[in-house]
Amino acid sequence: MTALSYSAPSSVEDAIRILSGASGMAKVLAGGTDLLVQLRSGRVKPDLIVDTKKIPGMIGIREVDGGFVIGAATSGALIGEHEALGKAWPGVVEAANLIGSTQVQGRASLAGNLCNASPAADSVPALVAAKATCVVVGPKGRREVPVESIVIGPGRTSLARDEFITEFHLPKRPPRSADAYLRFIPRTEMDIAVVGAGVNVTLDAGGVCREARVTLGAVAPTVLVVPEAAAALVGHKLDKATLDALDAAARKACKPIDDKRGTIDYRIKVAGVLARRTAAIAFERAGDR
Ligand SMILES: Cc1cc2nc3c(=O)[nH]c(=O)nc-3n(C[C@H](O)[C@H](O)[C@H](O)COP(=O)(O)OP(=O)(O)OC[C@H]3O[C@@H](n4cnc5c(N)ncnc54)[C@H](O)[C@@H]3O)c2cc1C
Repeated sequence: MTALSYSAPSSVEDAIRILSGASGMAKVLAGGTDLLVQLRSGRVKPDLIVDTKKIPGMIGIREVDGGFVIGAATSGALIGEHEALGKAWPGVVEAANLIGSTQVQGRASLAGNLCNASPAADSVPALVAAKATCVVVGPKGRREVPVESIVIGPGRTSLARDEFITEFHLPKRPPRSADAYLRFIPRTEMDIAVVGAGVNVTLDAGGVCREARVTLGAVAPTVLVVPEAAAALVGHKLDKATLDALDAAARKACKPIDDKRGTIDYRIKVAGVLARRTAAIAFERAGDR
């Protein structure tokens, strides 16, 4: 058995060089709340761990051109404490803050939540509903890609073995815009989503929805963007007919599994109910701005 090596580079360039030169399996480390659990259980057996937290910019939140740049290893706790971010993107912040306990919040990052590639990851439906992008770096350079292009299946990402994410970008918002995220879990604390729903809307002065994006988590191998559900909202106020159409579109999009947390039928029903409730919160928030 070879020993596990650990490296904590202080620049993106060094991290890429170390990852590119690694023989065997190399894993990038952010907060470790997934990776360390997997190491202990023997589920992953890397030869090298590259800790990204000493790289400038990996932790922290900046406002740029009216939008936000969030370092990939920024903890849920820091995200929750950022007033301007919480005002602009309450759904993204509430999703990030649903991850784990207070202790987990001190470490858990958006990049780790995304790249662990669990279908039930809480921050991902909210980030995708927000049209967030992320910056991927590697030996071939830097590219900015939509968050939804990263996860390609449970536990699998589109990143090359020597690539990693450095930051997330949330765009500037028009007036009367807001987002929301809700998940359903069997217990009241510390459980994995049976369904998660993200809704991001822009309303006009009369409360009619002009733009919408609706996402669902934990009901397919990767987060679903549901254009039919968004279409049910656009051009409408949030009345009963609109909510019924949203509910039906959300249910129709689901391709869930059957497991101990819920049957296929149950998950589909919950997806419709959650989409309704999440949309109601997003509309109410947007109307207040
Ligand atoms: C008790 C407990 C409760 C939890 N509850 C929830 C919950 O309610 N909801 C939920 O969604 N999750 C939950 N989780 C899972 C976990 O906390 C989250 O997925 C968390 O966001 C992972 O972030 P991290 O920084 O700790 O990732 P890490 O463990 O450091 O990394 C996770 C994965 O992402 C990769 N990675 C990390 N950073 C990068 C990067 N910059 N670029 C590319 N790949 C990278 C790693 O190589 C690894 O494969 C829970 C975990 C625990 C232990």
